[in-house]
Amino acid sequence: MLRAGEAIQIPQDVEAAAMNDPVIAEIESLLRWQHEHYGDLREGEVADYIPELTKTPADLFGIAVTLHDGRTVAVGDASYPFTIQSISKVYTFPMLLDLIGREGIYSLVGVQPSSDPFNAITLDPRTNRPFNPMVNTGAIAVAGRLREVLGPNAFEAILDTFSRAAGRALDVDEKVFESERQEGHRNRAIGHLLRAAGVFHASVDEVLDLYFRQCSVLVTAEDLAMMGATLSNLGAHPVTRDPVFGLEAVRDTLSVMFGCGMYDGAGDWATRVGLPAKSGVGGGIMGVVNRQLGVGVFSPRLDEVGNSVRGKLCCIHLSENLGMHPFDATNAGSSFFSAISGRR
Ligand code: GLU
Repeated sequence: MLRAGEAIQIPQDVEAAAMNDPVIAEIESLLRWQHEHYGDLREGEVADYIPELTKTPADLFGIAVTLHDGRTVAVGDASYPFTIQSISKVYTFPMLLDLIGREGIYSLVGVQPSSDPFNAITLDPRTNRPFNPMVNTGAIAVAGRLREVLGPNAFEAILDTFSRAAGRALDVDEKVFESERQEGHRNRAIGHLLRAAGVFHASVDEVLDLYFRQCSVLVTAEDLAMMGATLSNLGAHPVTRDPVFGLEAVRDTLSVMFGCGMYDGAGDWATRVGLPAKSGVGGGIMGVVNRQLGVGVFSPRLDEVGNSVRGKLCCIHLSENLGMHPFDATNAGSSFFSAISGRR
């Protein structure tokens, strides 16, 4: 277990290698370009349905990429802490899958994209279960089962798992937690719907407290890149080598992220960016290139479907320039692409 204040150390040889590495140099120049060209954008609004979130300065902007071996490039406000919000769903899902197995988890929640908003108070009519773990019904069902399996220490276990994926001890924004706890009436309604449908049997208030707390964990864009790199690295932290998630859990999580991670923009995202990714109302986006890297972007202004405006642009730009789209084979000019494919 990591203790507060403990951080991983990138070994010196990795740091030194990064300085002369063309892949790192290419990524750094792309991130700098994005910071310069998207930095002036003022489109989109900061989420206000959790009142405390409106206090985040709207124009912060940080971008980070971590390769599967831990080398990291970061620009702008990449070490500014903000709440993880829905990106937490990407880490509670594999945590529960590792605890109760596929059979257990898929009797609880489906893997179908829903055509409803993320906070819709509705279940899949065919199964009377949540559509998928990336919408609130599914994530609250996962929180409910984690509460049942882990008991009153469930939150400590969640925070420990998130911290291991990030490689440093994370903390909670108590003000955001309290704010959502006071105002989260839709989520409370979802909790009661799930309880009534027999999805969990724990107390609705306890499950909601757990869910609101997991959403209030503070991360930075650098943390998100590292947490993404952990998923890209078959579930093991790139530097500590800590095997945080099992292989089945990683495979299924990336699959669900690909289909359902970007609110109602998932189809557009799959076509334009092509990466399994998840966004949160705090302004974060975390993306994964399997076996290669994790991306973290933080910019609080959100578009009409709830994704960070600049975050989305950065991911499109990175994907196009590094040839990261899984079905793209046209970007032969990139040194990253050449290193992977052997093409020039
Ligand atoms: N805590 C938020 C909620 O459940 C997370 C939403 C989000 O980031 O999409 O409403």
